Amino acid sequence: MTRFRFLGGFTALVFFPSVLFSHSSLMAQNENAGQTFSDNVLLQPWAGPFGGLPPWSSVRIADFEPAFDHAIAATQAEYQAIADAPDPPTFANTFVPMEKAGRMLRRLETVFDVHTSNLNVGPIPDLERSIVPKLSEHSDWITQNEKLFERIEAVYEQLESGDFTVAQKRLVDDAYKTFVRKGAKLNSADKAKLSQINKRLARLFTDFSQNVLEDEKGYVTWIDDEADLAGLPDSVVTAMKSAATEKGRPDQWAITNTRSSMDPFLTYAKNRQLRERVWRNYYSRGDNGDKYDNNASISEILKLRAARAKMLGYETHAHWRLEPTMAKTPEATMELMLRVWPKALARVKEEVADMQAIADDEDPGVTIEPWDYRYYAEKVRKVKYDLDFNEVKPYLQLEKLREGMMWAAGELYGLQFKTLSGIPVFHPDVRVWEVTDADGEHVGVWYLDPYAREGKRSGAWMTDYREQSTMDEVRTPIVSNNSNFVEAPEGEVTLISWDDAVTLFHEFGHALHGLLSDVKYPSQSGTNVARDYVEFPSQINEHWLSTPEVLNRFAVHYQTGDPMPQELLDKIEKASTFNQGFGTTEYLASALIDMKLHLAGDADIDPDVFERETLADLGMPEEIPMRHRTPHFAHIFSSDSYSAGYYSYLWSDALTADAAEVFEDKGTYYDKEAAQSLYENVMSVGDTIDPAEGFRRFRGRDVDTAALLRKRGFPVD
Ligand SMILES: [Zn+2]
Repeated sequence: MTRFRFLGGFTALVFFPSVLFSHSSLMAQNENAGQTFSDNVLLQPWAGPFGGLPPWSSVRIADFEPAFDHAIAATQAEYQAIADAPDPPTFANTFVPMEKAGRMLRRLETVFDVHTSNLNVGPIPDLERSIVPKLSEHSDWITQNEKLFERIEAVYEQLESGDFTVAQKRLVDDAYKTFVRKGAKLNSADKAKLSQINKRLARLFTDFSQNVLEDEKGYVTWIDDEADLAGLPDSVVTAMKSAATEKGRPDQWAITNTRSSMDPFLTYAKNRQLRERVWRNYYSRGDNGDKYDNNASISEILKLRAARAKMLGYETHAHWRLEPTMAKTPEATMELMLRVWPKALARVKEEVADMQAIADDEDPGVTIEPWDYRYYAEKVRKVKYDLDFNEVKPYLQLEKLREGMMWAAGELYGLQFKTLSGIPVFHPDVRVWEVTDADGEHVGVWYLDPYAREGKRSGAWMTDYREQSTMDEVRTPIVSNNSNFVEAPEGEVTLISWDDAVTLFHEFGHALHGLLSDVKYPSQSGTNVARDYVEFPSQINEHWLSTPEVLNRFAVHYQTGDPMPQELLDKIEKASTFNQGFGTTEYLASALIDMKLHLAGDADIDPDVFERETLADLGMPEEIPMRHRTPHFAHIFSSDSYSAGYYSYLWSDALTADAAEVFEDKGTYYDKEAAQSLYENVMSVGDTIDPAEGFRRFRGRDVDTAALLRKRGFPVD
C-alpha cells in the first residue's frame, strides 16, 4: 500500500490510498491569512480535461503548509468515519471507503512531491523539513487507529468463509498485514514510542537528502587551462562551458558534482590528477566531515530502524522490510547476490588486466586506480570491439528515440500518443501527451520533464500523479517520466548517450506499467507492486531500444538523417556484455552493504569503518568504488523505501532476463502473442495477483536465474 517512485528512488512518503472528499465543516472553520480553504487551489479537485489535471500554473508555495494541515485533518476525519461506522464490518463498508479516503491529500502530495523532486529551490527545502514529519505522524495515526484496525481484522477473519474476488482477498490480506507490520497490535506505550521513532526518522531522511544535494551543489571542479580539456568530446566540453557560464564564470569550464558530469569526465579526460579530484569530490558526497556530513545521521537511522524492528517482533530491519516482497527473506536475496558476486569479481580481474595492458603501453608507471577505470575501459572498448560511443551519439537524438519508444508501445500494446498543448506545466521544459488505445479511446496522460537543472534531483524516475482505477467511476492514469539529460543549446538537437537512451526506455517501462493498469482498486493499481518486482516491467522495456526495428527507424543521424550503419549496430550488439564486471560489481557492492547494514541489528555502526571492513571481507576489488557509497546512498537513507531493498534491481533483472528469452525464442521482440501475454499477466494486473503467479503465467514456469548470468556474459554453472 505504500507509494514510491522509481530508479531515483528518493523520498517515498508513505500514504494510504486516497480519494476525493470534500469536508465542508473543516473548510468553514479553517482560515489562513484571510484566505479560506475553498480558495486554496491545492485542496480543490483538479480541473480540466480527462477527469482533471494537476493545476501546476496556479500553485502558490505559501499555500502548501496550511493545505497539508487541512488535508491531513480532513483525511483523518474520513478514516474516523469508517472506524466509527455502526454496521458490522464488511469489505463494502470498510475497504471500499478506505480506497476512497484521502484523495485530497493524495492530490496535494502529488503536487508537493514534484516541488521537492523537480523544483527543490527557494523555500522548498525548509517546507519539506516541516511537512515530512507531519506526514509521518499522519501515517501512524491511521495504522494506530484501534477501531479502524478492529474492522480490518474482522474482515480479514472473514476471508476463509466469505465471498471475495481474488483481488479483494489480496487487498484485505495486504492491508491487514501492513497494519500489523506497522504496529497496529502494539500496546499504546509502544505505539507512542514507534511514532516517535518514525517521526525522528522522517526528519533524518530529509536531512540526509538535503545534505547530499548540498554537496552536489557545493563541490565544483573548475578548469581554466584549455589544455586540461584534452581527450574530452566536444559535447562534454560544451556542457562544461554552459555549466560554468550558468555559475557566472564564462571564461572557465565546470565539472559539477553529479553523476551526469562526473561519468563522461572520468571516461575521457586525459588529465589524471583532475580525474582523481573529480572522482574524490563525487564519492565523498556526505562524507566531508563538515556540517553536511551524513555519517552521524546514518548511525542514528540504523539504530532507530533496529529498535523499531525489534519492537515489531522482527529479528532485524531487513527481516521486517523483506516480509512483503517477492524474495520474502534476507537469506533469499543474499543467495542470489552471492551467486552472481564471484562471477562479477572474476570478470573484473579480466577487465583490469586488459586495462593495465593498455596503461603499460600508453602511460607507463600507471597502476589502475578507481579514477582510471572508466578511462581505460573506454580504450579497451575501442581496441577490443572497435566501438567508440562518440560515433554512436550523433544517432541518438532524444526526440527521435522518444518517438521510437512510443512507436514500440504502439506495436506491443496498441498505444497512440498525441501531443497536448495548453496544458498547465510546472516548468517550460515539461511536455504532455494524451495516450489512447488502438481504437482511439482515452487511456491516460503522460508528462515528460527531460532536462537537468538546479534543484532537480539527480537520476531518473517515474511518478504517478493519479493511479488508474474503476472502483466507482473510471479514473484514468496520469504518469510522468523525469530525467537529467543535458539540453543542447538553443537551436541545436539534443543528443544523448547510449546509457541515457537505455534509461529513457527504462523509465518509460514504468510509465507503461502505470498507463496499462486495468484494475478496480487504486491501491492495487499499476506500479503499486512489490519493490523487487516493480523493476521488471521497466527493465524489460529497455530491450526494445536495441531492436533493429527501433534503431533503423529512430536512431538516425542528426545531420544526415541516415540510420545507424549496420556495422555500428553489430559492434553495439557484440559489446553488449562489455564492462559487466565493473557494472555488476559497483552495483552489487552497494546492494550487499545495504543488506548487511540492515542485518547488523542494533550494533554501533561507524558507516565508513563498516563499509571498509565489509568490502574487504567480500573481496571488493580496489579499482572499483560502490555505485553509491554509504554517506550518499539516498536509495536507503532518504526514506525507508529501498532500505534492505537495493537488491531489488538484481531480483527484477533475473525475472527480466528470463522473460526476455520468451521474445528471443520467438525470434522477434514484436511477437503479438508474447506481447499480449505480457500485457495480460504483467502490465495490466497491478497488484491484483501474486507477482510470482503473474510471472509464472507469462513464462510458463518459475524464474530460472541462469538467464541473468547469460545476459551479463557470465558463465552459468
Ligand atoms: Zn526503475
